[in-house]
Amino acid sequence: MDILWILWIVPTVWAVEEMLMDSTTATAELGWTVNPTSGWEEVSGYDENMNTIRTYQVCNVFESSQNNWVRTKYIKRRGAQRIHVEMKFSVRDCSSIPNVPGSCKETFNLYYYESDSDSANKVSPAWMENPWIKVDTIAADESFSQVDLGGRVMKINTEVRSFGPVSRSGFYLAFQDYGSCMSLIAVRVFYRKCPRIITNGAIFQETLSGAESTSLVAARGVCVPNGEEVDVPIKLYCNGDGEWMVPIGRCMCKAGHESVENGTICKACPSGSFKPTQGDDSCLHCPINSRTTSEGATTCVCRNGYYRTDSDPVDMPCTTIPSAPQNVISSVNETSLMLEWKPPREAGGREDVVFNVICKSCGAGRGSCTRCGDNVQFVPRQLGLTEPRVYISDLLSHTQYTFEIQAVNGVSDQSPYSPQFSAVNITTNQAERKEHSNEMWTERAPSAVSIMHQVSRSVDSITLSWSQPDQPNGVILDYELQYYEKEQSEYNSSVIKSQTNTVVIRGLKPGTIYVFQVRARTVAGFGRYSGKMYFQTMTEEEYKTSLQEKLPLIIGSAAAGVVFLIAVVVIVIVCNRRRGFERTDSEYTDKLQHYTSGHMTPGMKIYIDPFTYEDPNEAVREFAKEIDISSVKIEQVIGAGEFGEVCSGHLKLPGKREIFVAIKTLKSGYTEKQRRDFLSEASIMGQFDHPNVIHLEGVVTKSSPVMIITEFMENGSLDSFLRQNDGQFTVIQLVGMLRGIAAGMKYLSDMNYVHRDLAARNILVNSNLVCKVSDFGLSRFLEDDTSDPTYTSALGGKIPIRWTAPEAIQYRKFTSASDVWSYGIVMWEVMSYGERPYWDMTNQDVINAIEQDYRLPPPMDCPSALHQLMLDCWQKDRNNRPKFGQIVNTLDKMIRNPNSLKAMTPLSSGVHLPLLDRSVPDFSSFNTVDEWLDAIKMGQYKQNFTSAEFTSFDVVSQMTMDDIMRVGVTLAGHQKKILNSVQMMRAQMNQIQSVEV
Ligand code: AMP
Repeated sequence: MDILWILWIVPTVWAVEEMLMDSTTATAELGWTVNPTSGWEEVSGYDENMNTIRTYQVCNVFESSQNNWVRTKYIKRRGAQRIHVEMKFSVRDCSSIPNVPGSCKETFNLYYYESDSDSANKVSPAWMENPWIKVDTIAADESFSQVDLGGRVMKINTEVRSFGPVSRSGFYLAFQDYGSCMSLIAVRVFYRKCPRIITNGAIFQETLSGAESTSLVAARGVCVPNGEEVDVPIKLYCNGDGEWMVPIGRCMCKAGHESVENGTICKACPSGSFKPTQGDDSCLHCPINSRTTSEGATTCVCRNGYYRTDSDPVDMPCTTIPSAPQNVISSVNETSLMLEWKPPREAGGREDVVFNVICKSCGAGRGSCTRCGDNVQFVPRQLGLTEPRVYISDLLSHTQYTFEIQAVNGVSDQSPYSPQFSAVNITTNQAERKEHSNEMWTERAPSAVSIMHQVSRSVDSITLSWSQPDQPNGVILDYELQYYEKEQSEYNSSVIKSQTNTVVIRGLKPGTIYVFQVRARTVAGFGRYSGKMYFQTMTEEEYKTSLQEKLPLIIGSAAAGVVFLIAVVVIVIVCNRRRGFERTDSEYTDKLQHYTSGHMTPGMKIYIDPFTYEDPNEAVREFAKEIDISSVKIEQVIGAGEFGEVCSGHLKLPGKREIFVAIKTLKSGYTEKQRRDFLSEASIMGQFDHPNVIHLEGVVTKSSPVMIITEFMENGSLDSFLRQNDGQFTVIQLVGMLRGIAAGMKYLSDMNYVHRDLAARNILVNSNLVCKVSDFGLSRFLEDDTSDPTYTSALGGKIPIRWTAPEAIQYRKFTSASDVWSYGIVMWEVMSYGERPYWDMTNQDVINAIEQDYRLPPPMDCPSALHQLMLDCWQKDRNNRPKFGQIVNTLDKMIRNPNSLKAMTPLSSGVHLPLLDRSVPDFSSFNTVDEWLDAIKMGQYKQNFTSAEFTSFDVVSQMTMDDIMRVGVTLAGHQKKILNSVQMMRAQMNQIQSVEV
């Protein structure tokens, strides 16, 4: 078998010597056996360090035929196979002894004799070679000849010899002198072991060396925890000298683990990093748009909405689907046409974007489009186009066609959404060239409506309402409701359209169950239908009973009608409280009715202040679902809340799929009041259900720490999100965000909830740019909180002055109209990408300016229609401010008609004096171009300006867009901002010059 020899170096680790006998440690006589008694003699002496030792000496040089033996005591072998003997001795130089005979020697012999027991005596084993086995004749390296007055000057020799294999239980050593003058100073007997080592990823246990000096004892290594053998079993050999050698194979840290501390430990990759394969590499940071779910990750999973193909390297950022192709141009020529377009703004992070063209021919009837037949020709082809153009021929004459140009890439098939596309409508035989512009919000169809409620019903009608789809992906133009009798086939279904999310279905049969499905439509087309929901009309009997109940009230006066309305609300609230919001089983199956409002007035759902409860804990129980802590996995701290850390993590409820959540915790050591205030946010949030209001998943109150769990918003709070993406969005995108916030606020105001702290910092943004109103905590309004300078103490609580309407500051008149004022400020924050309202003005200056009818000016590039809407929100008389419903409608109109957002000239308003725009500061108040760049928040380009020698105001004031691009400003938003500020500088310079003139 071929053995793979891998070259690596065994670190130098000294062999371990295990002592079997050491004459120097003897405290009394050594008592070795000598023969004859006139030979060796035991004598006390000193070693080189002047320690007392016992030695054996002999010096019968003047007598002939010497044969003097000295034998050690019995030495146990203790498993050793090869024995080493270290001898320290001194020998007298024969030539230095006067008149010495020729028989004088300077050497001696070393022997050993093996025996299973200590059975030697004076005569046995016989004092001769065989039975003794000779190891060697030992000669001195240095002999000595001097004698001084104090004694001999000794030269000490050290010699080591080894022998083996030995196999009996023990042995004796013997030293034979045959006519020398010498002293045996020390004898140490030992064997060698290779020590325990960790090398090349494996642990080798201590191993005894072999019997021969050349023998190699193989030892198998065991990989350190989380290490794995590479190719061949890992081995080392222990040689006769107790040294490791001849390494074979090696261990490496397995995937998800990296080698640390000199290869002795395989450590799990910390969270946020990964290692895809076995090997010596270190853990790598997760690529962009991916994350780990635990330590020791071998791969990073893609964030929601991002994907990888099988062939994407694991260290490549996760990618997403491309946006729609842009600027489609169609040129019709009789029955053929050329379509050309620009690549999508966003390729999703990939380079494999291709285009598909979907052809639909639309007959005369509205909405009845069908896929084109096979006869239509596409050149070069219909699907997988790599170039942004296609030639289409063989169309039917005088026919209307719709072409959808989809952009797809390697991960499109993994996304649950259909590819984004731009659509064009053409009619054959009408020679024309059209440019079709498209906007982000019109590219993707809306998601499905998730739930429908029954608002009311009678014998022949049912009123239903539903909430907007989670991902409208644009402005919802209308809804289409399909319904049919449960006992009939789907083919007999009827369809109703509705501009709002409520519809009355009339002409139904009494006491009959109907199946309903609804879908939303945007300019991108219809979304998917919702799941089937079942509702039943009243039977005649039910109707009669209900009439009898209502009768006494209906025949009363109009005032009595109002009393009825209020009474119903009160009753509903009281009943709900008694029942702890446990919904009793409806009269139909689970599937049948999600919401039975009985005889309640339609749409009557209002917010209940948890502090009206005698025991606020009861409000928590009613409005927030208790979650068992075992379903919650906390992963990362993402921020600091009022009461403790805010973390991200996962929630896996039984029978549901795992979701990404935010977890607010209550820090330990809280008072009962703090616990109540903390949980009040959940009691409020739990009453809301709207796509633009942050959604409560539940609370953990039965274990510590107490937690509030909400949906996770990937992009965090809106103010910092905008600051990080300064200038990066289209106006339509910004208006889309504002529309979402207004829709959320409309819902809250319809529920009679007044937010009081609407500000960009309290809006959260998810990965789809959907904005949601959040922060329903009440605590920061309380008097005793002094930590946050945004909130200024006022009589009866704290107020965020810059966001608050004057009547709320002056006499605490907080209403939905004061929320509308705050909404105007949020609009300004959004359009200025997170600028601080009223910049560095003091709160008192802000109050004074507002009192004198000064208002914030339009932020840079803000369409005048939007600034006008802000000014409307900042009407002094709160009755003149628009309602949130009107704001939503106004924004929807703008989105539908983007031309209305083109006008930029600031409107001169008779009532509102704009404050001096401080977003472009006066250059003359700065000493250097660097300071000026900092002031316009473009400090990151200081180095670029310096390198390109734009270092004086004179040169900078002459910069053109080309210059700005040349210095390396690539982001369009930043280019505009700098150009705008340069133009302002030039204007300010001209002004100064004309004054000087
Ligand atoms: P809050 O106590 O609500 O002001 O939260 C503190 C910070 O935690 C916020 O500014 C956000 O950055 C972050 N945060 C709170 N809730 C969420 C959430 N649902 N998703 C993501 N981040 C959140």
